[in-house]
Amino acid sequence: MTAAWQEQVSLKPFNTFGIDVNARYLAQPSNDQQVREALAEAKQRGLAVLVIGGGSNLLLTRDIDALVLHMASRGRRVLSDDGEQVVVEAEAGEAWHPFVQWTLAQGFCGLENLSLIPGTVGAAPMQNVGAYGVEIKDIFAGLTALDRQTGELRDFDLQACAFGYRDSVFKRNPGRWLILRVRFALSHTLRAHLDYGPVRQRLTEQGVDEPSAQAISDAICSIRREKLPDPAELGNAGSFFKNPVVSAECAEQIRSQHPGLVAYPQAQGQVKLAAGWLIEQAGWKGYREGDAGVHRLQSLVLVNYGQASGAQMHALALKIQADVQRRFGVELEMEPNLY
Ligand code: FAD
Ligand code: NAP
Repeated sequence: MTAAWQEQVSLKPFNTFGIDVNARYLAQPSNDQQVREALAEAKQRGLAVLVIGGGSNLLLTRDIDALVLHMASRGRRVLSDDGEQVVVEAEAGEAWHPFVQWTLAQGFCGLENLSLIPGTVGAAPMQNVGAYGVEIKDIFAGLTALDRQTGELRDFDLQACAFGYRDSVFKRNPGRWLILRVRFALSHTLRAHLDYGPVRQRLTEQGVDEPSAQAISDAICSIRREKLPDPAELGNAGSFFKNPVVSAECAEQIRSQHPGLVAYPQAQGQVKLAAGWLIEQAGWKGYREGDAGVHRLQSLVLVNYGQASGAQMHALALKIQADVQRRFGVELEMEPNLY
């Protein structure tokens, strides 16, 4: 059966910023066939197509004069299990966090640090989602995508995805690949990553010395719930800026004027600066302009207090970007996808 098309649909429930713009058309395909039919129909009518999942990494600045395809495919399965290594696969429209919880319930380790990230499985490779020292590239086993230029299916291995820090070949070629399903290489044995932020400390406070994958997931969920606004209560798209990676000399120069600089050494002598710290030092924490604001606890998160438009959110982001550039000489790159 073909996925139904709705006309002039508000996208407010489809983006976590809660921005109220209209899509000219909306369809919610639940399998490959429906995806192909919708793409073919859009091509015939000369319509652009925008694919979305959970809308948690979007900033919608205008009505979308296109067919919006909200991925609604479901399904998750174990492809192989040799008693140690396990390969699992999930359809693009599966919600990310329930998928992570499902893997943990099967006793599979690897995705625990990526708990409670909003959005879908299909969008996770777009920016190589990462948190608490793990990125999906670390447990990635492949994905299947539809080439929207040729209509052919293609399997991507790790190398072909060209994953980087919040980056991938998919992010660099917007609209080219529609990700249908993603595979992960998990394990029956836990290799815990606890040295990031307050994770170990939280487990210690809970009296856990040798945590299970589920205990790590629970600790991370509790930290995230304390620090990050819940989009169901306060519109946001998570971190609005990427952490800038600069040369060691640049970091030292900033540190000479701002001794409290929060910075983490990276490969090849580079240094990652905490964008949230730069924004906070520039005085933006808790700032509000109408309904567009900077979260009061986490300066990296821009929030919509209710009726802000995408253009207002974008204008605030541009002001912050310019101010950080002026004060620190560092360019902040926006993380959400702007439309
Ligand atoms: P959407 O926002 O719907 O889409 C994002 C982009 O992917 C768009 O360009 C869209 O066109 C494209 N896209 C979506 N689905 C597909 C598909 N099937 N095929 C091809 N392209 C597609 N991110 C992190 O990396 N780490 C975090 O810890 C994190 N924490 C967050 C916390 C909060 C409170 C929020 C609101 C966001 C957070 N994010 C985080 C950002 C976001 O959740 C992730 O980037 C997530 O993977 C986006 O998934 P989505 O389904 O919502 O994508
Ligand atoms: P945090 O723990 O307050 O840390 C601040 C920043 O410092 C983070 O952005 C993180 O970089 C970096 N950092 C902390 N410990 C580090 C270490 N040991 N080595 C290298 N870098 C370190 O961050 P937070 O805002 O509460 O977020 C916690 C985690 O969730 C982070 O990994 C963050 O990326 C992720 N997160 C992402 C989003 C998003 O939308 N992208 C939203 C919320 C949370 P990294 O960001 O590079 O990890």
